[in-house]
Amino acid sequence: MDGIVVDFHVHIFPPHVKADRSAYLARDLLFRSMYESPRARIATAEDLVASMDRAGVDISVAQGFAWTSQDLCRESNDYLLEAASRYPGRIVPFCTVQPAAGDAALRELERCVQGAPPARGLGEMRPELQGFGREDCGLWDDLARFCGQHGLILLMHASEPVGHGYPGKGGMKPTLIYQFLQRFPAWPTVLAHLGGGLPFYAAMPEVRAAMAQTYVDIAAWPLLYRPEIFAALAALGTMGRVLFGSDYPLQDQSLAVQRLREAPLAPEALAAVLGENAVRLLGLAHGG
Ligand SMILES: [Zn+2]
Repeated sequence: MDGIVVDFHVHIFPPHVKADRSAYLARDLLFRSMYESPRARIATAEDLVASMDRAGVDISVAQGFAWTSQDLCRESNDYLLEAASRYPGRIVPFCTVQPAAGDAALRELERCVQGAPPARGLGEMRPELQGFGREDCGLWDDLARFCGQHGLILLMHASEPVGHGYPGKGGMKPTLIYQFLQRFPAWPTVLAHLGGGLPFYAAMPEVRAAMAQTYVDIAAWPLLYRPEIFAALAALGTMGRVLFGSDYPLQDQSLAVQRLREAPLAPEALAAVLGENAVRLLGLAHGG
C-alpha cells in the first residue's frame, strides 16, 4: 500500500438532503448553525467518490453528524452504511448516536457494527454537546465500553480556545478534551482539526501520556493555521499520529491533497500522514 492516500474526515449526506436541506435546518440547531448558509456545501456519496477519483484519494472515512435526535442519527447512519456497501474499500463508515438516548444508542451502535461493511468508528461526535462534562457522563462510560469491545475508534470535533469564530466551532476545547482523554485512556481517539491545539502541549509529559492512544486529523487546517504547524508537530515527535483529513466538501479534496504535498514535511512524514498512519489505525491490510 505504498503511496496510499486516506482522507480520514469527510462528510456525506443523502441526495434528498442535498436537494432540499430546509426540513433538517428546522429539526436540528447544530445542523442549522453549520448549513444554514446556501454556500455551505453538501455532498453525496457519488460526489465524494468522483472527488476521490479526481484527487487521487484511495479511501475516505465518511463521518456522521452529531444530530441531537437519535432518530436523525439513525437515518444518517443508514445512509453511511449503505454508501459504504455500494463503494466497498473506498468509503469506510463512521456513525453517530445521541448518548442521552441510553440503551437505544447502544442498540443502534450494535446495528452499525453489524453492517456490511461494519461501522469502524463513532464520529464526528461533539461530546460537549452530548452530555460529556455533565452529570450524565455515565452515558459516555457505556459508549466507551461498547466501543472497546468492538474496536470502534472515536472521532470528535475539537475547538481552538482562541482565535476567530466560525459556524460549528463549538466548545470542545483542549481543557475538556484533556479531561476526556484522562477518563477514557484506552479508547483510540482521533481529535479533529488538530485537536484544538492540544497536541502542541505534548511537550508536557502528562499531556503526552494522556495522548498515548490519541491521533489528530488535520481537517481544514489551512483555515486555521499556517504551515509552521507541521514543523512543530515533527519537533514534538507526533507525526506517527497525524492523519490527513480534508473536511470535504467544506474543503476541496484535490486542493487539500495538494496543500499537504506542498507543506514542509519530510517525505517519510508525508507518506505517513497521507495514508500510512490511517492504514495502521484502521487495521487495513498492508503491503497489497
Ligand atoms: Zn469538525
